Amino acid sequence: MCTSVQVFHQETGEKDNLKILAGITETFISAHDLARVLSSKLYVNNDRQKIVLYLREHRIKLSSETSFIIINEQIYQMSQFTIGVEEDIYLPAESFFSILQMTVLPGITYDSKKQLLGINIVDFNITGLNIEEKTNGTILRIKTREHFSNGNISAFKHNNGWFYITIKDGIIDSVEVKRTDTRGVVHKVVADQFDESVQLAFQLRSDIEGFEFYQSSEPDEIVVTLRTPLSKSAARIKEVKNRWRLDTIVLDAGHGGKDGGTIGKYGTKEKNITLDLAKRIGKLVEKNTHIKVVHTREEDIFIPLWKRTKIANETNGKLFISIHANANPNRNIRGFETYFLRQGKTNDAIEVASRENAVIKLEDQQKSIYTGENLIIATMAQNTYMKESEEFAGIIQNELASRTNSKNRGVKQAGFYVLIGASMPNVLIEVGFLSNPTEEKKLKKASYRQQIAEAVYGAIFMFKQTKEKLLVKG
Ligand SMILES: [Zn+2]
Repeated sequence: MCTSVQVFHQETGEKDNLKILAGITETFISAHDLARVLSSKLYVNNDRQKIVLYLREHRIKLSSETSFIIINEQIYQMSQFTIGVEEDIYLPAESFFSILQMTVLPGITYDSKKQLLGINIVDFNITGLNIEEKTNGTILRIKTREHFSNGNISAFKHNNGWFYITIKDGIIDSVEVKRTDTRGVVHKVVADQFDESVQLAFQLRSDIEGFEFYQSSEPDEIVVTLRTPLSKSAARIKEVKNRWRLDTIVLDAGHGGKDGGTIGKYGTKEKNITLDLAKRIGKLVEKNTHIKVVHTREEDIFIPLWKRTKIANETNGKLFISIHANANPNRNIRGFETYFLRQGKTNDAIEVASRENAVIKLEDQQKSIYTGENLIIATMAQNTYMKESEEFAGIIQNELASRTNSKNRGVKQAGFYVLIGASMPNVLIEVGFLSNPTEEKKLKKASYRQQIAEAVYGAIFMFKQTKEKLLVKG
């Protein structure tokens, strides 16, 4: 009979021996000696005959004269009681190693007949999972320790109501994954470790419209977005209806404070024109309807772009109108145009968007907050409102065309930052070109600005009516 378990380190080829308790037939290994073999930190509490092994971030708590061990606060039961001898605790080898393999050391193998322990410190590269619920989707964050090649990740939705994601070369900490709190559209999670891959299966509470995934590197994660239809859930219909009721609008006077916007030949500043227009539109709405008006600014102050949509979202705005004045190196160009959000399509639109977005550089927070999954969620919200935004933009253009004698340059699409993230239909109006001296002169006149304000107010009124007709039908 052997007096020790033979240990073989598979990566280095080194051999070692692990001390066992002599004099009994079953193999009991020494916790102290195991700590040496695994080169883990060992914490001993002599008073209560307890030993804690630290294996990287994992904590294994051992006590003497019990069949239970605690790994990362989870309790596991072994086939036999541990034996306390002086300051050491001896553990039933076979069941202890099988628990260890299942939980924190996937790379160990133990042959009880030969008393041979193989150690291959492969580490989990998938260490956990978080699930977040958003308004129109559920986000799965699969925590990873490395970047997988994109070809190694595949996902699909089965018509049995499960969503599967398979990660080749993944080694998953299934114990940690089991502890994930499910929420949103995810009812249940099952992790399966196969020889060359990991499969995560998510049982869904309801159908999803689609999904996207990508890898992020800080932190290392695979982020999966499961999109759920807003209207499907019966409980949400009322909420959705209220959401549609046009009871609050947000008027966003472009620029302000240190950000003057564009300047005309006669010194007219965009930030002053936009503020005046926002106030005029607001007054008309308040006087003639019960719609609540929220201004992103009412003075000549600087407000970062992200804060403007934040204000809109926090006040439950149902319509977001950002007001701007245009500029072009060609001083002959004149007219008004209304944008709704989409990746820039034409060069013109890209040019205007990049000029209006330039203010981002003035913001304290240099980086856009719309990166990674924020952008996905923002884009998801935009898809919902894009159709309405386009429709509203069309109404504005018609109203402006019929109430002013300026040129109708049409509805356009571009990726304005100020429009990203607004959870409501939203448009950006370029009321005219300050770079065109004739148009600048007109915009300087209060009576002309009042005409524009009346046109935009008229568009809001028409849009409200269109929406409420739909509500009655629905
Ligand atoms: Zn502007």
